[in-house]
Amino acid sequence: MFPLLPALAARAQRPALRFGDRALSHAELADAAGSVAAGLTGAGRVAVWATPTLGTAVGVVGALLAGVPVVPVNPGSGERELAHIIGDSAPTHVVADPDVMLPPALAALVRVAPAAAGAGSATERSFAEPAPESPALIVYTSGTTGPPKGVVLPRRAVAATLDALEDAWQWTADDVLVHALPLFHVHGLILGILGPLRRGGAVRHLGRFDTEGVTRELLSGATMFFGVPTMYHRLAEALGTDPALAKALAGARLLVSGSAALPLTDHRRITAATGRRVVERYGMTETLMNTSVRADGETRAGTVGVPLRGVELRLVDEAGDAIGTYDGESVGEIQVRGPNLFTEYLNRPEATADAFTDGWFRTGDMAIRDPDGQVRIVGRKATDLIKSGGYKIGAGEIENVLLEHPGVREAAVTGEPDADLGERIVAWIVPARDETPPSAEELAAHVAAQLAAHKRPRAVRYLDALPRNDMGKIMKRELRQHRGGGAD
Ligand code: ATP
Ligand code: MG
Repeated sequence: MFPLLPALAARAQRPALRFGDRALSHAELADAAGSVAAGLTGAGRVAVWATPTLGTAVGVVGALLAGVPVVPVNPGSGERELAHIIGDSAPTHVVADPDVMLPPALAALVRVAPAAAGAGSATERSFAEPAPESPALIVYTSGTTGPPKGVVLPRRAVAATLDALEDAWQWTADDVLVHALPLFHVHGLILGILGPLRRGGAVRHLGRFDTEGVTRELLSGATMFFGVPTMYHRLAEALGTDPALAKALAGARLLVSGSAALPLTDHRRITAATGRRVVERYGMTETLMNTSVRADGETRAGTVGVPLRGVELRLVDEAGDAIGTYDGESVGEIQVRGPNLFTEYLNRPEATADAFTDGWFRTGDMAIRDPDGQVRIVGRKATDLIKSGGYKIGAGEIENVLLEHPGVREAAVTGEPDADLGERIVAWIVPARDETPPSAEELAAHVAAQLAAHKRPRAVRYLDALPRNDMGKIMKRELRQHRGGGAD
């Protein structure tokens, strides 16, 4: 299982990282990261100003080499978020590209510039591998349901999740990843950078997502693409008019989606245009990856596959009892156990204790298991499970049906207090461009035609865009505070 990153220098001249026109081989990366590691002597924790650049990746690898816990910082953070993260994690050092003007909270720390190329003074061999339980990274959650929490991830968890993905995705040193995600969350940093490096393969980062970049890289030797659902939506939209993109996606070895649910309509459009399926995986900052559709397994759109190797997963009903048989209908909270789990929430012993029950981590996500064991996520317990008229209704199912309406571009469903029903179903709609927005009656009828009548929205609100965070996740707590224009 260890070291976390295999001897980089041993991969010699094979490509490791490419960001725009800057690239490093594995040997050059070993050298550059060695220089950063040498600069971190005596550091307690290191903040990494996580721009989507080569310097960020070198900085993180250097810190891992030195055994100094890394705190990735979103460079788009507001002043308050930044004060929260820096105050909470108390880094002593900061890694940032030389051209970055750091905000005061970070400018006061010891600054280490990521090496553009190795200085040759310190190599990876100068550093001993830290203990498996020592913290590799402290990653802040996406802040979808509340203020971001610092998640302490030991080296053991990072190694375990990447090895389980190797098994599920048949991931090898020959894979080349097309990457366009931010580097301050698990998806982009651990899966997207450390994953390929642990396998001895390569990453090509686009800087920012565009369909042309995905096409170009997949047609010139890249084998995999990892994205969030908003990226797959854009790919699905572009496929109609872009035969080169269709060819690129059709030729990829693996297309992976995660961080939020992939709408069924987008998945189906991609499959129709390319003959390819998108592999969905389900994970969290706290648990890294829990389930995935396997590269050699069956895909049913709307499922996130089966537990990864080493991960134990159970569904627990409201009484706290594990649901024993998979009937494709019983909804329960996902709880997990395994070597992929975090150690604790930083500075929050109570939140840590609350998150576990008998050694199982409560994810707060609700799901159903199909008779063959595939997991279907219904949504988050806190925001996506609506209790209306004595029924428990998952928002995602209704969102998927709304998105099939030609007049709907984006859709989100929430529950709102209602005197009669307990909660009533509210649909938040971004109308399709150049279409007359569908009326509330029309949308209710559209949903009732596909699902049970009690799942139809009782109110529809129209917005120009849904509030989303930097991973494209819909911020339902903001929606609930928001009262858009609309019809009740
Ligand atoms: P916070 O914990 O701060 O509220 P967050 O839960 O969005 O934010 P992350 O740890 O980045 O922070 O995201 C994990 C969550 O993302 C999961 O709990 C789950 O709700 C959602 N998620 C991840 N992958 C999928 C997927 N494939 N399908 C549906 N939901 C997913
Ligand atoms: Mg969370």
